[in-house]
Amino acid sequence: MSIKKYIVPLIMLIVFETVAITLWLTLGNIFYLFNFSYIGISVSLGIFLFIKKYKYARRITQLLVGLYMLVYLGIISNENMQIEGFWYYLFTGVFEAATIHYSVAKIFGPLIFGRGWCGYACWTAMVLDFLPYKTLQQPRKKIGWIRYITFAASFAFVAALFLAHVGNIERIMFWAFIIGNILYYAIGIILAFAFKDNRAFCKYICPITVFLKPMSYFSLFRIKCDKSKCVSCGKCKRVCPMDVDMTDNSRKRKNGTECILCFECAKACPKKAL
Ligand code: SF4
Ligand code: SF4
Ligand code: SF4
Repeated sequence: MSIKKYIVPLIMLIVFETVAITLWLTLGNIFYLFNFSYIGISVSLGIFLFIKKYKYARRITQLLVGLYMLVYLGIISNENMQIEGFWYYLFTGVFEAATIHYSVAKIFGPLIFGRGWCGYACWTAMVLDFLPYKTLQQPRKKIGWIRYITFAASFAFVAALFLAHVGNIERIMFWAFIIGNILYYAIGIILAFAFKDNRAFCKYICPITVFLKPMSYFSLFRIKCDKSKCVSCGKCKRVCPMDVDMTDNSRKRKNGTECILCFECAKACPKKAL
């Protein structure tokens, strides 16, 4: 077995273990060791299975991480891991749970692994990816500005709770997580059927993309095209769920910050150019 072939899952495991051990030792809480080790193993397993050409590799990681976050962290441990939870911890000045999650997965992590979160971990997309419209069947809509409204609304909601000195905000945050998720799923499913696009919610509504898009612009890991092999057959673009022009290697490529690193384009390329 060639180790070189498995260098990417190994690097991923090392990165997550480094975060796990650093947070465990600096914050003195063994939960972080368990949490980031579990996520690191799930992500590395997915990449390992992908290298082994297992068809559902990405989906396995997505379910392992997504269900863990939604059910264990969100519902059982009462941690609001949505964007409202991030604002909440930011306002209280506590560097834990949602603040750490956002820093790693959605703000600084994307500098390394782009929007890997969206392809391998998000519990909203985990459900949307079961729907029938895996690729765009209509031209992309020009309504991406809605994300800024949902982003501002999430901030205003939490700010209003603090300004009004509402009591028991922790309990409100728990219910905000439950109701917010039900709303996200409902809107995501309705949009997917209306636009015949499973990832319509990600493209137009999701407030987290306000962080994810600019940070993933600088991503270390990105799909690149070997122009000497490419025969411009267009098969890659036909399978992309996010309408990315992956044959253009520039960072300014069309929808470049939408790439979720699903590798469907690479799998479809007959010339192994991606
Ligand atoms: S865009 Fe939002 S909803 Fe879609 S996968 Fe990313 S974080 Fe999840
Ligand atoms: S198909 Fe390729 S370019 Fe499109 S989202 Fe997946 S990895 Fe990115
Ligand atoms: S599928 Fe491969 S060969 Fe065809 S256009 Fe895409 S990168 Fe080029």
